[in-house]
Amino acid sequence: MNKKTIYLFFALVSSFQLVGQNYWQQEVNYNIQVKLNDKTHTLSAFEEFEYVNNSPTTLDRIYVHLWPNAYRNGKTALAKQKYATGEKELKFGKEENKGGIDSLDFQSNGQKLKWDYDPINGDICVITLTTPLKGGERIRISTPFKVKIPSGEISRLGHIEESYQITQWYPKPAVFDKNGWNPIPYLNQGEFYSEFGSFDVSITLPKNYIVGATGDLQTSSEIKFLDNLAKSTEGKIPDFLMTKQGRGGKTAFPASSDEWKTIRYTQSRVHDFAWFADKRFAVLKGEVEMPKSKRKVTSWAMFVPHNTINWQHAIEYINDGTYYYSLWNGDYPYNQVTAVDGTISAGGGMEYPNVTVIGNASSKEELEVVIVHEVGHNWFYGILGTNERVHGWMDEGMNTLNEMRYIQTKYPNNTRLSDMVANGKFHFNDLNHHDVGDVSYRAIAMLGIDQPIETHSADFTPINYGLIMYQKTGIVFFYLMDYLGEEKFNEVMRAYYEEWKFKHPQPEDMRKSMEASSGKNLSWLFEDLIQTTNHIDFKIQKVIKDKQTNTTLVKVKNVGQVNGPIVVNAFRDTVLVETIWIEPTKKGQAVFSSTGYTRITIDNSKNIPEIVRSNNTWTKKALFHKIEPLKMEFLFGDHETSKTNLFWTPTIGGNVYDGFMIGAAVHNMGVPFKPFQFLIAPQFSFGRKNIAGLAELSYTFLPKTCLKISKFGASVKNFGSGSERIDFFTSVTPYWFAQLGNRGKAKATSHSVLLQGLLRQDLNFGGLVNIQQGAFVSYNYNVNLPDHRFNMNLRGEYLQGRQRFDQLGRISIAAIYKYKYLKNKMERWIELRAFAGSNILYKTQSPQGNSNYELSIFGARGYQDLFVEDYNFGRFETTGIWSQNRQDNFGNFHANNIDMAIGSSSSWMAASNLYIQLPVKPGIFGAFADFGLFEDLSGTTQTVMNAGLGVKLSNTLGVFFPLYQSSYFGDLFTNYGQKIRFTLKLNIVNKGLNISNLLN
Ligand SMILES: [Zn+2]
Repeated sequence: MNKKTIYLFFALVSSFQLVGQNYWQQEVNYNIQVKLNDKTHTLSAFEEFEYVNNSPTTLDRIYVHLWPNAYRNGKTALAKQKYATGEKELKFGKEENKGGIDSLDFQSNGQKLKWDYDPINGDICVITLTTPLKGGERIRISTPFKVKIPSGEISRLGHIEESYQITQWYPKPAVFDKNGWNPIPYLNQGEFYSEFGSFDVSITLPKNYIVGATGDLQTSSEIKFLDNLAKSTEGKIPDFLMTKQGRGGKTAFPASSDEWKTIRYTQSRVHDFAWFADKRFAVLKGEVEMPKSKRKVTSWAMFVPHNTINWQHAIEYINDGTYYYSLWNGDYPYNQVTAVDGTISAGGGMEYPNVTVIGNASSKEELEVVIVHEVGHNWFYGILGTNERVHGWMDEGMNTLNEMRYIQTKYPNNTRLSDMVANGKFHFNDLNHHDVGDVSYRAIAMLGIDQPIETHSADFTPINYGLIMYQKTGIVFFYLMDYLGEEKFNEVMRAYYEEWKFKHPQPEDMRKSMEASSGKNLSWLFEDLIQTTNHIDFKIQKVIKDKQTNTTLVKVKNVGQVNGPIVVNAFRDTVLVETIWIEPTKKGQAVFSSTGYTRITIDNSKNIPEIVRSNNTWTKKALFHKIEPLKMEFLFGDHETSKTNLFWTPTIGGNVYDGFMIGAAVHNMGVPFKPFQFLIAPQFSFGRKNIAGLAELSYTFLPKTCLKISKFGASVKNFGSGSERIDFFTSVTPYWFAQLGNRGKAKATSHSVLLQGLLRQDLNFGGLVNIQQGAFVSYNYNVNLPDHRFNMNLRGEYLQGRQRFDQLGRISIAAIYKYKYLKNKMERWIELRAFAGSNILYKTQSPQGNSNYELSIFGARGYQDLFVEDYNFGRFETTGIWSQNRQDNFGNFHANNIDMAIGSSSSWMAASNLYIQLPVKPGIFGAFADFGLFEDLSGTTQTVMNAGLGVKLSNTLGVFFPLYQSSYFGDLFTNYGQKIRFTLKLNIVNKGLNISNLLN
């Protein structure tokens, strides 16, 4: 230990004693010597750590993380998490790409310690202490260790050829806090929690490596080496950018020097140590003055030369980030801040104390955001050492808030989101960096698939890990900042930082600190917005001018689920005259000190993440004061606050009866979705010389509990149905769709209910009218695991037609189980389906029966799609190619039969189907075998089967060729072409929007 470390050590110990009576935290001080072998990509090291028990508890064991073991095989928590997202390297990849830690031998005072691997996670071990460690005592434990460095394409620790990212690499005690031990397996999605202490690390490696690391470099020859590199890089940049390499050509690895060097780093008051080594790095050095203490901090940028074009101004980004974060939260307490260029798999960048690694950035703008974000983690992760695995928002979310502030402060007129969405096409105009979070959160919330901010990292869906934990947290604290005012908010952040720096704040500590310094009750934030998915929606109710007192009274109503503060802005033409904040309330009012305002708006600056903003504006001049002017745009776009956005697109279509159709679709399905949605798509039918088309409308509710989404809607369809010009059908199908469950933990299972009605009129043969009405209810249960899928559908339906002479009541169950039998490079599934259905009510006055109401062993033909659920080119065809189009329901035999009566039942049917994707390339070929049992139209029970080959292009198109069939069906090879069956699924607007797919 050098003098400075000793001083800091005492400062640290004494600062602990100043904290409240109840708070304590452990301390771990490391001394590590490590040597890099860049031929075998291994580390050999010796570590000694001092563990200080500051807790009141006597410890008989110490949990230690051995995180390199996460890369050992396909069974680790990391491997399982990666496999679930389709990354197979640890399960099936080459042995040389995997990693691990071994040669461990924990000792204390020259005595071997008993230790064991955790039975579930091999990247955690438990050391049993020979003598229990009492509160206030300390113990020194040492071990040698060797690390096999995995491929850098898997996660955070790794190498890409001879470029090294040495992170989460040494044996490291888990945190022991008021909740007990916190041992956690290494994960990609889900970060860390570590004890504060000091590091003294010596790294030995070939002399021509350039290293970026945690801590202050103590080796004077290496300091000189880096200074010289920085000087030479700076002078070379303009010329270098003119060369081929400077414009993006790859930089080759130089041979490793035969000479070795040992470089030493020390650092106190940090909870991790990482280092990055590459022989190609260009180096830039800078300096930034701290806003409060005026202390100087050295900044370093290390990057591969072919990325110079983006990295040339990296020092500016590091300095500005360090400056603003210090200004808003508190001064950076360390001496150096470094950003290194590396190829990592865990997102765009990864943070470690003092040093951050940045993934490939595609532009300078992106690089600046990533550098500032990762440097910012020095505050939210590094200094405020939260439990990232459990409360990821406390670092990622708070850091995203500061990142948003940074871009909005430095580039107030930025249009970052507009630039991201197809370079401003599709009318996503004037959307800035803050709106990235705003629009994406509100979009995901309207789909009913958001999760609470306070969700364990591993329980987030990958999409919500980004959009909720990072972005929603960022915008809800932006809302708090808007409410408190920037100056007050800075005070609140600085107070939190001062109180909790170099400690482990929990959410309740943060809330307590922020409520104390703001003087506000923040339950709307810390309870509603953080712990639940409750949505915000405020509404302008009334604007009343009082001529006598010369004031304007604005009544607002909280029509959402969060009792948060409301801001109301009053405008005279385009000039903002007055702004009033209303404290959290259900119904409130703002009294403006004048009259004659032309526009009153809730939250004009769009800093409140309201799910609906179209009820926020009152306009004096408009006929309907609360409806925004209409704006029609081509194709697709976002919903602007002050406009009613509609989108249109030309459409073409066609079917057997209408022939070619041309028309236009008008809809309001912009981003984010609105509760009320519609689409109208009239088309001109050239076949019938008449108008055809469809319309969809729906209203979405997002209840607090029990249902994730509840949607009422209706579809209207009008299309031709026969050869005559006046043959057509019109159907109206109202429905209620609900996704059951709460928006909490991500689950592999999902449930939904669909209730659908039908009102349908068919006009056929020049005037024959058939009116049908009915309804069905269906329950759907879904399991979605990486290698297993299961779906079960229960359905009951009732229908009547032909002036109520015909009636159908049917119940059915269909279950599909899919198993991925080939899991490696070629993924192939085997699918088993079972169906049972019964027409419990079947009445018809027609002597031939009602073929529409029959169950078909082949799956429903167009005319058997009674509730008009599918799109169909030849809905009413009984012969010809379009009659060979069948749905995957009922008996689902993968063959066709020309005679409608064969394979039909008016009573009951059971069937099972086996479909195997063949292990050949491409993966579109399959084989099927179908078995069926049913009562035929004459009342005889039939047992049938068929088998053959199929071609499936995704789930849209399938063509099936039978090769064998039961004699009941007659001779297969007579008119063989007509025995081929196909499926075609073209449902564009689908009620469920297949939410279960998005959830997994
Ligand atoms: Zn981050």
